[in-house]
Amino acid sequence: MHLFKKISDLQHYLNSQQKKDFSVGFVPTMGALHQGHLSLIAQAQKKADIVVCSIFVNPTQFDDKSDLAKYPRPVSQDIEKLETAGCHVLFLPNNEEIYPPNLATVRFDLAGLDKTMEGAHRVGHFEGVVQVVHRLLDIVRPNSLYMGQKDFQQFTIIKRMLKLMDSPIELVRVPIMREEDGLAMSSRNVRLSEMGRKKASKLSKILFQAQKDAQELELPTVRKNALARLKEEGFDVDYFMIVDGDNLQEINNFEPAQTSVACTTIQIDGIRLLDNIILKEA
Ligand code: AMP
Repeated sequence: MHLFKKISDLQHYLNSQQKKDFSVGFVPTMGALHQGHLSLIAQAQKKADIVVCSIFVNPTQFDDKSDLAKYPRPVSQDIEKLETAGCHVLFLPNNEEIYPPNLATVRFDLAGLDKTMEGAHRVGHFEGVVQVVHRLLDIVRPNSLYMGQKDFQQFTIIKRMLKLMDSPIELVRVPIMREEDGLAMSSRNVRLSEMGRKKASKLSKILFQAQKDAQELELPTVRKNALARLKEEGFDVDYFMIVDGDNLQEINNFEPAQTSVACTTIQIDGIRLLDNIILKEA
């Protein structure tokens, strides 16, 4: 695997590959890699000739600076995992490389997608996400981009950004990888206490139950039942919403040609755990 810390070195290499007409698939991450990240790499490998993974813990998307400080950074283990997975290129820039002093600020009209759910709880978070993904795409210039369903709102926002940019980049949504007990894999899971980790496994069960309920009950009832179950388990619930996957507005009925998703975030041990389940694909 090639490891580049400098944009110029990365671009020099990618230009040489693109001259050979090789396509580039890109997987942006913040590291502390797990099977979820590796499933994005595997998906990219199916389509692209060259797979680039980036690891950059983006400071601008952390509204809580102690969360940024505590974010795990096991870089040598990450490198090993990427080597084993057969990733071609790792881009590992530092802050100065991504945010040089005169970098122009990008702004997109996100039509409120950034204000609901995570956006309502983490002020400025999606501005930071848009800023870094835009910057990374500008550096890597991939043909395809792979993002996890795990961060459904993030995926929807980046989809809108690409549309507003009139970008030819193909965006691929990769399903959520879960632990054996159903917990969605996340770099933050390692910070859970033993008790918290046990409790966390209940979250996905409630989502799977909601998916089942949605086959026979009205969506407001599905929502009410799920919220009651989350409370019963003693979860500290930030939100549980059933939304239209494109505009992220709450829905009460399924519409044809609409992806419907139940999204939730709860807190255990002060750690925010995001999860979602698709109730109906468009
Ligand atoms: P992160 O390093 O948390 O910023 O995540 C990098 C990418 O991996 C994002 O597109 C995430 O949605 C995706 N991802 C994170 N966790 C999972 C998971 N459990 N399954 C699939 N993709 C994931």
